[in-house]
Amino acid sequence: MKLNRKEMAELIKNMSGKILITTHKNPDGDAVGSSLGWFNFLKKLRKEVKIIYRDRIPFFFDFLPGIENVEVSEEIKEQFDWVIITDVSDPERTGFSEIPAERSVVIDHHITAEPFTDYAIVEPEISSTCELSYHIMKLIDESLIDLSVATPVYTGIMTDTGGFNYSNTSPETHVVAAELLKIGVDPYKVYTNIFERNRINKLKLLELVLKTLAFELKEKVAHITLFRKFLEETEAYPEEAEGFINYPRSIAGVEVAVFFKEIEENHWKVSMRSKGRVIVAEVAKAFGGGGHKMAAGFEKEGNLEEIKKELFKALEEALEKAYYESYS
Ligand code: 5GP
Ligand code: MN
Repeated sequence: MKLNRKEMAELIKNMSGKILITTHKNPDGDAVGSSLGWFNFLKKLRKEVKIIYRDRIPFFFDFLPGIENVEVSEEIKEQFDWVIITDVSDPERTGFSEIPAERSVVIDHHITAEPFTDYAIVEPEISSTCELSYHIMKLIDESLIDLSVATPVYTGIMTDTGGFNYSNTSPETHVVAAELLKIGVDPYKVYTNIFERNRINKLKLLELVLKTLAFELKEKVAHITLFRKFLEETEAYPEEAEGFINYPRSIAGVEVAVFFKEIEENHWKVSMRSKGRVIVAEVAKAFGGGGHKMAAGFEKEGNLEEIKKELFKALEEALEKAYYESYS
């Protein structure tokens, strides 16, 4: 059942019993920020709450208040009364094959979200799950939004908007950010903790990945590739490749950037970024993934060359459609 903000606020306020909070695998700033923000908020609301992720938390989120409460586990054995899943548009993205909970809730902002829980709020136009969460929290009890809630929430808004630069940034996003700063969030502290603690290994990985830069479709598509052997060679963590896709996207004339990441042999994670014309969420959806208009992805088994061939064909069609629409 789809709920509006007020109905979701009522639902969460009245939740009783054991509540589990989780998010998507390979958690990013919005995933960690929204789930941890809710965890800290629900603690203040005196709820019985646990927070469990499928994947390890990237080290650059270690400054977030309450992060030590996050458990990392391959499966969830305990039975819960409720599960709140944040920033997730399809059940596979949680990374768990099963979540033992009586009732389930999704709070999300993906355009490709398909209902898979008992209750859901999905706002595809909002910058981030964190921004949406903030509005719902305010409707529950504004006085509970202290620094332990505001800091993770600000972090997710900042990362999902690329530092308030992407087209998902609205006037309202800045209003929310201003309110969070008034609560005491230190933007420089958040920024430096996430972006200015790079390990040399990351830069070495970037060097290897940038060497794979190549173009397709009259240079409208730029792509880079991360082979597993690069991680071994540089001893970098996979999450240190976050943001690499911004380099091919930044090239003049490029419409779509693609990042192929080898997860295991013949298992690839493909990320896409659009500069505005191509709706990459539609392309990703056709490959079983999802995301946003300008940022989307999917996972696929198979040989890299075959995946590339199939994807570039789909992108060719998407580009043709985009150009046709912009001139008609
Ligand atoms: P990223 O490329 O940074 O991993 O993800 C960009 C966006 O695409 C995110 O909003 C993310 O949720 C979505 N996305 C990435 N990979 C997948 C996927 O395998 N499945 C789905 N449904 N969405 C994905
Ligand atoms: Mn998000």
